[in-house]
Amino acid sequence: MRTGERLLKEGSRPEVPGDYAPSVRRSVPAEVPESLLAGRAGSGHFGFVILGAGCAGLSVCYYLLERGVTEPILILDQRTTFDDDRTWCFWDVEDTPFSHLAIESWRSWSVTSGKRTITQTSESHPYLCLAAGDFYESVLRSIAAYPNVTLRLGEAVESREERGAHTLVRTSGDTYAACVVLDGRGLAAGSPAFTELRQRSCWVPQQFLGMRLRTTRPVFDPEVCTLMDFSVNQSRGLRFMYALPFGEREALVENVYLSEVEVSAEEHRAEISAYLHDHYGLLPHEYRVDGEERGYIPMTDYRFPRRIGERSYSIGMLGGETRPSTGYTFLRIQRYCRALAEALAGDREPPLRADPRRFEMLDAIFLRFMRRYPERCPDIYATMFNRVPPSALVRFLTERSTPLEDLRLILALPKTPFLKVAGGMLLDRHP
Ligand SMILES: Cc1cc2nc3c(=O)[nH]c(=O)nc-3n(C[C@H](O)[C@H](O)[C@H](O)COP(=O)(O)OP(=O)(O)OC[C@H]3O[C@@H](n4cnc5c(N)ncnc54)[C@H](O)[C@@H]3O)c2cc1C
Repeated sequence: MRTGERLLKEGSRPEVPGDYAPSVRRSVPAEVPESLLAGRAGSGHFGFVILGAGCAGLSVCYYLLERGVTEPILILDQRTTFDDDRTWCFWDVEDTPFSHLAIESWRSWSVTSGKRTITQTSESHPYLCLAAGDFYESVLRSIAAYPNVTLRLGEAVESREERGAHTLVRTSGDTYAACVVLDGRGLAAGSPAFTELRQRSCWVPQQFLGMRLRTTRPVFDPEVCTLMDFSVNQSRGLRFMYALPFGEREALVENVYLSEVEVSAEEHRAEISAYLHDHYGLLPHEYRVDGEERGYIPMTDYRFPRRIGERSYSIGMLGGETRPSTGYTFLRIQRYCRALAEALAGDREPPLRADPRRFEMLDAIFLRFMRRYPERCPDIYATMFNRVPPSALVRFLTERSTPLEDLRLILALPKTPFLKVAGGMLLDRHP
């Protein structure tokens, strides 16, 4: 197994008394270079104003600078710190400037449905795991090397208004004028975009809580990550466990629902604890929880508006970068932000998307299948992972497959229920 280059130095890992191995994860927020906050470029008027310093906002800034943009760039975010609040996993199907930061990688993964476990290995496309804290620290350090970038934290964006050749951005602290606005404010539950997609699309929420654990004895197999283990109670909706082992005694274990059922944090924790007991024989005193991450990701066929003003574009989840059938977003964000930066730096009209259109229809069918036949999904996933060669399946999941590979995958699945769903879709675009 190839392990990604570890960004954290031994000394920066927390020392924990007891029998716990040192963690691969950081315990402090990413450092923000002072020079970025100093307001070095532009005072009130900027070439680019980026709303949101999350995955997409920071990535697009990185790509703009990489493409040689020298106009003043302002990044605004309401947050005040960059906590290590999530992990980004994706298959290594292409280079990104951040892949080398992966804290772990796996060449083998498993999917379990009932008593059937399928374990597959791909030598060419490992599954990488990036800790958000490492990503933030690395990008912030890279962009701080350019004198034309300013980052303002603790400023909530309140409005965006077109004024002739400029756009005015009002925040809780100030007003800024921009030639180009890139809106990467994410897709918080309850936000206007979130409310709209709930009403106007076929959607399945992916809701999860993950615990970062260290155990007193070796229980995890560091060679294989668990992508989906459906051998858990399905009575409240489609549910699986996801486990990323960082060693024999450290893992991120997540409880995931693909369902609208309301699940509290306490319920998630209780279900993880039951799984740790049933699956690994772990009792509560045999592990400690170093941290948690929680997400609510709408998987949807909603057509997110890309161009939101004369020279304003939405990016990230707000730009529809979440793959509707899987919830994976990170790679799509990298692809689109890179393409967008290339176009803007070259003074060309930005593309509306970077991913091939032909997956749109397949994803829309799969989403409807998930809503209509959730109880059949565990078997469908197991069949898919069993019948389709792993590297080809990975390419399909990352929209890098050939049409022939797509056809093979379609042929590996049961025809009747999918045809029924596809037929229904022609009659009604909504669920
Ligand atoms: C816990 C978790 C785990 C995930 N794991 C994966 C994974 O393994 N693989 C994968 O592909 N995807 C994953 N995702 C999905 C997706 O990749 C992430 O949500 C990603 O961070 C989305 O990037 P974004 O830039 O669109 O939004 P975000 O990264 O959430 O950034 C949005 C930013 O906008 C700021 N903001 C919001 N409103 C305002 C405002 N009014 N004013 C100023 N600032 C504002 C926020 O503070 C935030 O910094 C995960 C998501 C979560 C939540």
